[in-house]
Amino acid sequence: MLDYMQYMTEHKHEQLVLCFDRDTGLRAFIGVHSTTLGPGLGGIRLWQYESSEAAMLDVLRLSEGMTYKAAVAGLALGGGKTVVMADGKEADPRIRAARFQALGRYIDSLNGRYIGAEDVGTKPADMVEIRKVTRHVTGLPVEQGGSGDPSPVTAFGVWRGIQALVEEVFHTDSLKGVRVAIQGLGKVGLGLAEHLMKDGAIVIGTDVFSEKIKAAQAKNVKVVDSDAIYDVDCDIFAPCALGAVLNADTIPRLKCKVVAGAANNQLAEPCHADMLESRGIVYAVDYVINAGGLINVAHEVARPYSAEAAYAKAGNIYHTIKRMLKLAENSHLTTRDAAQQMAMEALQQTVPTP
Ligand code: NAD
Repeated sequence: MLDYMQYMTEHKHEQLVLCFDRDTGLRAFIGVHSTTLGPGLGGIRLWQYESSEAAMLDVLRLSEGMTYKAAVAGLALGGGKTVVMADGKEADPRIRAARFQALGRYIDSLNGRYIGAEDVGTKPADMVEIRKVTRHVTGLPVEQGGSGDPSPVTAFGVWRGIQALVEEVFHTDSLKGVRVAIQGLGKVGLGLAEHLMKDGAIVIGTDVFSEKIKAAQAKNVKVVDSDAIYDVDCDIFAPCALGAVLNADTIPRLKCKVVAGAANNQLAEPCHADMLESRGIVYAVDYVINAGGLINVAHEVARPYSAEAAYAKAGNIYHTIKRMLKLAENSHLTTRDAAQQMAMEALQQTVPTP
């Protein structure tokens, strides 16, 4: 079994909170990795874990990732995350609401060191329950003064990142005729496809749900089978569905020059960044290019929320990608290591403005 104290020491975590509520059956962990640049903001994930140890490791890993994501995006935020252990009973709306309120009391007890947000398995209605007991939560519906669905801002940020990559890798400032293969035509994937097609790019996509496929075809996306997406002859592969899709099986199949998409944790293992590099494929580092969603909720924290300001900041992903590429080239680093270095440098500087 992993020595969690040792893990937290090595990874420099600040805090791990075990949330147990006997009355509602809530079992959750809040991980606060760093508050150096500001409160640790990160999503609340509802997931069926094999054990509490697995949930604990996940929250520690994810909260650390949030520190780097916020730091590279230039936000006055640290890294935090919550995982809630699903057991099926949350299918009952009353139990679900009671559990999220119980979680809200734990979040409140941290006095703003951690701010929650929506994540895999949770929805705005869960944030509303949490908001009943604490103000330290974001991702509320627009009608309640929140920033609503972050996906359009994420898609916008990925599109801006792709513009920078096209300039640096293909030496053109036009997306006309650039072939992009999008895996996952959901909220972000389809939004990204629309931005790209407006610029004249050719979009090939895939999904596992027929409704998503139909919606994409109606917008002129050429659709291929889900496994065939790795073999598509394209300039850019954009993972917008699942994690760990860049691995020893898929990387040798890719025919692109750039990987740039919204999915989190795209590399199955860190070594796959080297594998991409040795194949001459430029990897846009998931947490750098997909920071639009975090940027959006960060602007909700700095109330009142301004969509204009959020989009302007997400647009800066263009410059961040350029900085990362330059650092990687000048210092002979993989883009993954360059991004990590940028995060470390940001953490050593004084607090940026929101
Ligand atoms: P979504 O659920 O709307 O879309 C994901 C799509 O991927 C779905 O349509 C799903 O059917 C499809 N899919 C699942 N498995 C697939 C497979 N094997 N092959 C092809 N398609 C598959 O989610 P989203 O909000 O669009 O987010 C997409 C990804 O980006 C996720 O990994 C998410 O964690 C990440 N992300 C999202 C945001 C955001 O603001 N929504 C922010 C940062 C990161």
